[in-house]
Amino acid sequence: MARERADLVIVGAGTIGGWASVFARETGLPNVVVLEREQAGAGASGRAAGMVRAQGGIPDTVRLGSWSIAFYRGQRDRYDTDSGFMQRGYVILATTARGERAARDRIAMQRAVGLDARWVDVEEIRRLIPAMAGDGYRGGSYVATDGWIDPPRNVRAYSLAMQRAGVSVREGTGFVGIRTRAGRRGRREVTAVATTAGTIATPRVLLTGGPALQSVAAAAGARAWVGYVRHQVAVTEPSDALQADSTAMAFDLDAGLYWRPEEGGLLWGMSNPKEAPGPGRSIDWPYLRAMERRLHRFVPATRGLGLKKVWAATIEYTPDHLPIVGPLVLGDGTEIDGASIASACGHGMMWGPAVSRIAIDLVLEGATEVVERPEDLRMDRFDANGRSPFVDPIALPFPVQVDED
Ligand SMILES: Cc1cc2nc3c(=O)[nH]c(=O)nc-3n(C[C@H](O)[C@H](O)[C@H](O)COP(=O)(O)OP(=O)(O)OC[C@H]3O[C@@H](n4cnc5c(N)ncnc54)[C@H](O)[C@@H]3O)c2cc1C
Repeated sequence: MARERADLVIVGAGTIGGWASVFARETGLPNVVVLEREQAGAGASGRAAGMVRAQGGIPDTVRLGSWSIAFYRGQRDRYDTDSGFMQRGYVILATTARGERAARDRIAMQRAVGLDARWVDVEEIRRLIPAMAGDGYRGGSYVATDGWIDPPRNVRAYSLAMQRAGVSVREGTGFVGIRTRAGRRGRREVTAVATTAGTIATPRVLLTGGPALQSVAAAAGARAWVGYVRHQVAVTEPSDALQADSTAMAFDLDAGLYWRPEEGGLLWGMSNPKEAPGPGRSIDWPYLRAMERRLHRFVPATRGLGLKKVWAATIEYTPDHLPIVGPLVLGDGTEIDGASIASACGHGMMWGPAVSRIAIDLVLEGATEVVERPEDLRMDRFDANGRSPFVDPIALPFPVQVDED
């Protein structure tokens, strides 16, 4: 029997692999195969909180968020399905004078990139988020067009779009490694992808994997500076006092605590900067309760409300809080023609569609218009110790190291 062939094999059916496969088909690749070791959405993409913001800390993360929001808004016309994007506005709180200065500088940068960001004082924040306390913060940056998606609905949306685009999804099939041969200009090139169900001949492979990206990259012989750590989300019981039908979202940047309305209550999520890297297997109740007390101070109406849902899951991150997208680069600095890698690195809901678009643009065209400096997102921006020349300051307080001890 002839060996199976594909024009592109994508590893992982999360939001990155899912939307990338759809874009690849739309851009003209006839035969796109997606390998998924479990089921589509089984990784971080099915467990996220869904916060989506264009309020990035550097120009290109503003562009990633803006592109993704425009994509979510156009989904219904384009795919006859959607990820449930709800535009409700997002306040990033400033609690100190330093935080206020940083917010005002950030707003100027964002406005220069074309984002309608502005400073809002305490009074205006209380109009946008009626349940907010009147003290404990100085104001914040605000963008009215930020919002959230429904992560399970996003899994459904990309799964439907993949089906309609004719992408071949192989659930229960793991990626094992890549096969290469000597190619042009003294470089190696991809010839095939090895899976737990046999080998697929292909000239192109795109590695994704979310929290598992480090191991996926390692199977291909590369070192990806992507860590994974527990992240927790809780949803309170419904309460009229929260005004869930109209309230904006908020981010307490200092503590890495964010919240938005959900099912008549408040969904709030948090990352513990002291958490050691590793998978999120169980709820850290002491930390969750400490963050709940902090939430009570900002949103007094949450005091006394029960928790309807709480979950812990594993999120991926990079030390500089930026995505990884571009060619696969091995430890010795060499690239393999046809092999590339993509991850939004902890921001897959807000930047995922844009990162997927960039990945496919680079695979098929060698260039992209989504961001101005795609080269800054290459995986080899990190030195031998995982240090990057860049950083996005608007991020959850992830651990500084990426490896488990
Ligand atoms: C609790 C939580 C809350 C979050 N909240 C937000 C938020 O509010 N906003 C936001 O922007 N982001 C949020 N995130 C981050 C976001 O969910 C991720 O960045 C995004 O889902 C990653 O998408 P992905 O496709 O890269 O990875 P995943 O969704 O993890 O998909 C990767 C897939 O690859 C598969 N895979 C792994 N190894 C292999 C292999 N060897 N062979 C085949 N398949 C393999 C996995 O099974 C998985 O299905 C949150 C994450 C968590 C955990």
